[in-house]
Amino acid sequence: MPALYAPRYDADGALLAVEPTAADLPATIAKQTWRGNTLSHSTVITPEAAWPSIHMVEVARSCPELCRFCLASYLTLPFRTASLDNGLIPAVETGLAVTQRLGLLGASVTQHPQFADLLTWLDQDRFEGTRVSVSSVRAATVTPQLGRILARRGSKSLTIAIESGSERMRRVVNKKLSGEEIFAAARYAREGGLSGLKLYGMAGLPSEEEADIEATADLLLALKKATPGLRLSLGVSTFVPKAHTPFQWEGVRPEAEKRLQRLARRLQPKGIELRPESYGWSVIQALLSRSDRRLAPVIAAARGQHDSQGGWKKAYRAVRAGEVAAPADLPVPLPAPPPWEEVVHATWGEERVLPWAHLEGPLPAATLLRHRQEALAGDSSADPPAAPSPPH
Ligand code: SF4
Repeated sequence: MPALYAPRYDADGALLAVEPTAADLPATIAKQTWRGNTLSHSTVITPEAAWPSIHMVEVARSCPELCRFCLASYLTLPFRTASLDNGLIPAVETGLAVTQRLGLLGASVTQHPQFADLLTWLDQDRFEGTRVSVSSVRAATVTPQLGRILARRGSKSLTIAIESGSERMRRVVNKKLSGEEIFAAARYAREGGLSGLKLYGMAGLPSEEEADIEATADLLLALKKATPGLRLSLGVSTFVPKAHTPFQWEGVRPEAEKRLQRLARRLQPKGIELRPESYGWSVIQALLSRSDRRLAPVIAAARGQHDSQGGWKKAYRAVRAGEVAAPADLPVPLPAPPPWEEVVHATWGEERVLPWAHLEGPLPAATLLRHRQEALAGDSSADPPAAPSPPH
């Protein structure tokens, strides 16, 4: 409850601490986590939903891979899987009584230890006509069986996140994925009868160089050559730091904008679809992601112009310049927000007090720091892959 914790700043506006406002409050608050083996599924299925008429079933929660930028993994640990017989199968049966569209959800669905059994079960003739789609899967877990069953169940394409075509970069971010595994995933997708492969990557990752971006373009071109007939597309976003991940100290790198354009120049003429996320909106994401509560007056001032990047920048400038009065009902008076550059782009010192330091995530700050140091030293691969938790 923010009102029970007050920030303390020095004369230059640096955050010194976030402290409880009463002696009987704990100094830090630990995130609470559901650890059971029943996960969630849709309870309302309607054509009016964002994903119309799809019965969504959560297969796994969190991800054991710990890619260094990944909020979906770090903030939601431990990795949990839904029980097949007591959770997933009854949930799927319930939904398929009212719709023929099934979505299997999770950051890492194919890492469910019984995912192959679930696929075999869905391969039964009685599910003829059912359309099954899965969220992004780890490339290393794509099998010929997955490609075949998804194609038979109406999926056209498979989505894998490679993050980068550069082996070095994948080591830095702890993506335990080899070039061979990416090629094998494309081959299996095509052999299984899928017509497309969507890949996801990032530009502007910490320590990334031009050569790493060229390696991503090279990989896509080589994949196209190796799997003719498979439609390839690359979705690329700009790296945005997220709280409670080892890359929370890194800023958004302005070079990313040109690197996205470089990818477009190399891939589009060769018939590879490129779907870049807006660099400008990634900057606004970073502003929201790394600010502290001094952003509150900015959010209030951006109201009505929040759908333009310029609107956010204008609101930030106005609040910093004192041209906009802070909302009157803030529990503690706030100094002006720090310079834009410092929040969005700067690499923060490891000693900096973070705005969320009083909130304990699943891993201690010292572990995040060690993962960051290993990543920047380029030896994340020395980390053994985090083992999935055993089925419950
Ligand atoms: S494999 Fe995907 S979900 Fe898992 S940690 Fe890496 S980026 Fe996150």
